[in-house]
Amino acid sequence: MHHRLDCPRCGSQQATSSNSELAWDEVCCAACGEFLETRQSLEERNAPLLIETCLKSQALARDMGLRV
Ligand SMILES: [Zn+2]
Repeated sequence: MHHRLDCPRCGSQQATSSNSELAWDEVCCAACGEFLETRQSLEERNAPLLIETCLKSQALARDMGLRV
């Protein structure tokens, strides 16, 4: 998997991790191999957006239910 992360060591924005679904899998800089973070911390950072999307679709479903 490829990720877009700034590497504090070399400044590269290319990071990679293996294609496994392991939450503790390491995300490392593709250029110098520096460890940046784990897949889990990346996912937690993206989580608020997913939760918001989820709540919006739930509200939408409720609206549609009322109108039927
Ligand atoms: Zn680097």
